[in-house]
Amino acid sequence: MQKTIIEKKELSNRKLASTGGLTPDEKLALLAAIVESSEDAIVSKTLDGIITSWNSGAERMFGYTPAEIIGLPITILIPFDRLDEEPKIIEQLKKGERVDHFETRRRTKEGRLIDISLTISPVRDSDGNIIGASKIARDITHIKALERRKDDFIHMASHELKTPITSIKGYMQLASQIISGKEFEPLRQEFPHLDVSMKAVNKQVDKMISLISELLDLSRIEFGKLQITRSEFNLEEMVQETIRDLRPTTTRHEISFESSFSGDVSADRDRLSQALINLLTNAIKYSPEAGQVEVKLRSEENFAEISVRDYGIGIEPKDHRLIFERFFRVEGKNEKTFPGFGIGLYVTAEIIELHGGQIQVESDKGKGARFTIRIPISDKLK
Ligand code: ADP
Repeated sequence: MQKTIIEKKELSNRKLASTGGLTPDEKLALLAAIVESSEDAIVSKTLDGIITSWNSGAERMFGYTPAEIIGLPITILIPFDRLDEEPKIIEQLKKGERVDHFETRRRTKEGRLIDISLTISPVRDSDGNIIGASKIARDITHIKALERRKDDFIHMASHELKTPITSIKGYMQLASQIISGKEFEPLRQEFPHLDVSMKAVNKQVDKMISLISELLDLSRIEFGKLQITRSEFNLEEMVQETIRDLRPTTTRHEISFESSFSGDVSADRDRLSQALINLLTNAIKYSPEAGQVEVKLRSEENFAEISVRDYGIGIEPKDHRLIFERFFRVEGKNEKTFPGFGIGLYVTAEIIELHGGQIQVESDKGKGARFTIRIPISDKLK
């Protein structure tokens, strides 16, 4: 049997390697050199927000020399409209929690605003008490500028696409109407597939309109322009209407509806219906092998609750939060076959948030999914 003997010399080499072969002073000097050579701004501060150290990265990024800024409050870097961030950060640090990759803006010495990503960790003394914080700031101005250009492009492209596709839809409807007239009977006889083809084109045009509308909504959210207009309406009727409009889009699925809530709500009828359409089209799309989709409406305390249950491919718990993020689509060989942009749930969650409501998913892989949205019922409508 093979035996491995570790010689004394090798052991002492290992010990040296584990301490890096450095004395504590040398280690400190090395650490200081690493901090100094970093491209990122590395800064420390007390729990009162007073700056205690400032590396060359910070000097390059913000323009202040260490002599100018050490001893001053960190708020000197914070734009006026973001001053409320600091107390929240301090609160989190006092609890011993890190702030990870927090994207915000800070002001340089010459007054220029820069986009930065901040990671802040509590600093403890030898007894473990939190005595301050270390901050690493990375300049992400160029990344943000690129993101803004991409958002501008999505906004412009979806606007430009919407106009021609809407007019194609109009002309298609007109053409269908004309062709269904009596005088076109001989043409229909000659081309029996004409009607089917027109319907197929119409369906594809509708799909394109809905994809373009998703893109438009996405850019509205990015520009903070997605808004809701409230009116009072009967929720049960709205849900019924939405289901009725969607039934013709599927031949494989039966959409059932059960309701124990018949009151009015104060909400944006179109936007809420759009949220429900997103949940229903997903339920249909992601359950190719199952035929049942169940919609339930009820009230729960001060909320009206709509749930959509399917028996399709389901979602692993690790992806439950991610599916509400923009562009996120579950990876997998099956999932690749379902068309989509990964925007629908992001927009849906935003619509529900604008209503002061909640959205929730219960699901497991292969077990189908239940999405539930809750919106507050205003006191006077109860
Ligand atoms: P899209 O369907 O266009 O990809 P969504 O934002 O509506 O975008 O959904 C994000 C992802 O969540 C989908 O790509 C899919 O992986 C998953 N998902 C959403 N609804 C369901 C569902 N009912 N069953 C299984 N997976 C779903």
